[in-house]
Amino acid sequence: MNPKIASFLATTPATPCLVLDLDVVAANFAALRHALPLARIFYAVKANPAPPILRRLSGLGACFDAASLPEIEACLSAGALAADISFGNTVKKPAAIAAAHAHGVPLFAFDSREELEKIAVHAPGSQVYCRIAVDNIGAEWPLSKKFGTSLARARGLMLAAPGLGLQPHGLSFHVGSQQTGTAAYELAIAQVATLFTDLKNHGLDLKMLNLGGGFPVRYDQDVPDSAHFATEIMRAMTTHFGNDLPEMLIEPGRAIVGDAGLIAAEVVLVCQRLEADPRRWVYLDIGRYGGLAETEGEAIRYPITAATASGPSGPVVLAGPSCDGVDILYEKSPYELPLALQSGQRLLIHNTGAYVTSYASQNFNGFTPLAEHYL
Ligand SMILES: *Cc1c(COP(=O)(O)O)cnc(C)c1O
Repeated sequence: MNPKIASFLATTPATPCLVLDLDVVAANFAALRHALPLARIFYAVKANPAPPILRRLSGLGACFDAASLPEIEACLSAGALAADISFGNTVKKPAAIAAAHAHGVPLFAFDSREELEKIAVHAPGSQVYCRIAVDNIGAEWPLSKKFGTSLARARGLMLAAPGLGLQPHGLSFHVGSQQTGTAAYELAIAQVATLFTDLKNHGLDLKMLNLGGGFPVRYDQDVPDSAHFATEIMRAMTTHFGNDLPEMLIEPGRAIVGDAGLIAAEVVLVCQRLEADPRRWVYLDIGRYGGLAETEGEAIRYPITAATASGPSGPVVLAGPSCDGVDILYEKSPYELPLALQSGQRLLIHNTGAYVTSYASQNFNGFTPLAEHYL
């Protein structure tokens, strides 16, 4: 384990808590910048909006992809310039659009006519980009259904933007979160490139392609590193855009913070349920409502280790502490923990820096919300 985190854990902080090393965040950011030097990096704030993370990234020159007015204001408070913020949610309240515009945020996403018209009224003259729905093949946490429009609709909306007093700036897509392959990027780049050409032939010279996020973190499986994604993305970009590359944006969230932190949890109960099922049920002081929402469908399988218990291990079902029957973390995935594990001992849930703290509920069943320590 990371020595900084290990020495903090040695002080036995109250559980459940997230302990996150900001130096790992900085290293992940630097690795992506090195791998894709042509892309501006907009950190997807929703992955973990903690002020120490935003301040560190802002100091390193990151830009920010914000989904709401409070996220925009958190970035500004952390030292980001409005010029370096993109309002990337395609579903925004008019008042939020107006306030973002008043703050000086220049760039707005849309994927429907109504949203484009809202931006025209409440953020006149802004740069807009249209999100295209693309195949999320290879993603373990897909986002495809809810966002994006077709190339044909995007074409009509981009052509309409100047008449609404907006600057048609570019296109975006998102290949799905925890994207473990490069095929989805290759397909998406090929598709959007045809629309760049088509619009150029109609006198509209788009400046920017936003390739979204999706870069994966190692959970229970090895994943390709950022250099591999960068190579394949640049290969697809030069294949389809030649020497006429648009400005490139990426919006990593998970890959910046996911492996920077872990959760320390306490075992509340170990017991057996059905006589026919020899597996032990291990109940923790954190579950789905405490922030581990991405265990839904067992989509994201965090590595879990015992902090002190050791010796031979056996299969377990892992569950949260709440009185809700769906608050089970892993039932089908083959987790094993030491046979000697007892209540009162601690477990470590690794690579939980992304999409955990921001998902934690207020105080379901009265449990204290997840504590956060940034080192
Ligand atoms: C969630 C989101 C991201 C970040 O995705 P990751 O898979 O965490 O990299 C980027 N862009 C948009 C628009 C998003 O909604």
